Amino acid sequence: MESTVHVIVGAGVTGLTTAVELEKQGKTVVILEASKHYGGMSRSFTMDGVVFDLGPHMLMLNPNKPCGVYLRKLLRHEEMYRRRYKFEINNGERIWRSPVTPAELLRYPAWARQDVLRSLLHRKNGNRGRPTLDNYISRRSGRKIYSSVFKPLIRKKLGKDGSDIHENWWLRPPKNVHIGGHKSPPIPGRPTPKAILGRFLHDLMPMYLYPKSGMGTVTELLRKQFKGRLITSCGDIRLSGSAKKITEVSFSGTELKAASLVWTAPVREFYKALSEETPAATETISTRLVFITFKADTLPKRPNLYTYFTGTDTVFTRVYSPRSIFRDDSPEGLEGFCFEIRSTDRIRSMSHEQLIDITASDALRTGIAPGSIISARVIDINDSSSLFAVDYLEKEKALFSAINRFSNLVFAGRHGNYFNCLLPGAVEQGLLAAERIENASV
Ligand SMILES: Cc1cc2nc3c(=O)[nH]c(=O)nc-3n(C[C@H](O)[C@H](O)[C@H](O)COP(=O)(O)OP(=O)(O)OC[C@H]3O[C@@H](n4cnc5c(N)ncnc54)[C@H](O)[C@@H]3O)c2cc1C
Repeated sequence: MESTVHVIVGAGVTGLTTAVELEKQGKTVVILEASKHYGGMSRSFTMDGVVFDLGPHMLMLNPNKPCGVYLRKLLRHEEMYRRRYKFEINNGERIWRSPVTPAELLRYPAWARQDVLRSLLHRKNGNRGRPTLDNYISRRSGRKIYSSVFKPLIRKKLGKDGSDIHENWWLRPPKNVHIGGHKSPPIPGRPTPKAILGRFLHDLMPMYLYPKSGMGTVTELLRKQFKGRLITSCGDIRLSGSAKKITEVSFSGTELKAASLVWTAPVREFYKALSEETPAATETISTRLVFITFKADTLPKRPNLYTYFTGTDTVFTRVYSPRSIFRDDSPEGLEGFCFEIRSTDRIRSMSHEQLIDITASDALRTGIAPGSIISARVIDINDSSSLFAVDYLEKEKALFSAINRFSNLVFAGRHGNYFNCLLPGAVEQGLLAAERIENASV
């Protein structure tokens, strides 16, 4: 048996941030990671000279928030691209761009211009309706545009209707981190005039940052700062202790004496590790990502980071083009794309070869991709998005109830607490987790 350590489960952005911050407090930390690699979703790889990312592609930093300051400091020596955030939706009838420019708005069909105008007037009268995704988006886009553009997209991407999903799926409100049943104070920060102005400018012209060596740079830099033990391929974890504390964490024949436990892996796996039944969990979807490089004689401009496809005639929902970020720094004579495909039963049953074939043929038929395939790779992302039913907050209460039982347990991050958070949100979760442990003096 080793001496007491602070154990973190999961070596993604949340786990690594927590680890770095706990070490700054002078604590001994051990990270247990199930996969062969650290980094979680924030990892990059290169194929034929094209830099691809598994998860995040764009970093939108709020300089007024601690996580924004933290990430800027972490990335201060990195060369970064700063790009304008644009995406487009192809609903089979036309291309809808966002954010829409006044010139594009003028080219909208008359019914769509009226719809936008009506939604602007409607927004002011404060009629919010149920807190669902369809109400939230249609208030902003217009009801008719919602029905013909966003509704089919949500159905294809999530396999559900927007009326069955809570608006927080989109809004991602800040999520607090708790320890030992203590309702720690909410995340500080009232909107300052500077923050309000920043928000307004961001809505008008959203910009994002991207490290030139890929988004995985974030976890690479955190890993360099962490001096403790990071155990990859850790195998099944078992937890034990008293009614009020987790005191032992075992894995692959090793037992650690735990001062605290920060769980950033899926919460259902926490209950499995405790040999307890999982309370009803929020539903998730899984995604298959297909990365393909194509030979290309001519390379069109790619101003949009993402193109979404709502129709059932393409297997993919979203296409991401690294060249929209790298532009002239991209390799010549080829182009790379990442296709996001929701894992339905049919898709799940396909081999990598079948999935690559069907994706490439849809991409060629619809004119997205240029000539023949050079290389391809499939990566499966389990639990890529939570579905947030309209009553999900009730389910979360039961799911997170273990926090009230154990005084040295923290749930944090994309799987552990703040489903659907973006990368800065994961950093914030890590900062809060470390702060809660320090304050609880465990
Ligand atoms: C498809 C996709 C696209 C995204 N795009 C963006 C974007 O453009 N911009 C942005 O800001 N954010 C984006 N995000 C969100 C961003 O990726 C996450 O917020 C962030 O990476 C979450 O970090 P995390 O550490 O909480 O979780 P993860 O990165 O998921 O890390 C969790 C870690 O726990 C490990 N683990 C799981 N189970 C166990 C177990 N039983 N035992 C031990 N370890 C385990 C996993 O292997 C993983 O390493 C995206 C996410 C997805 C899924």
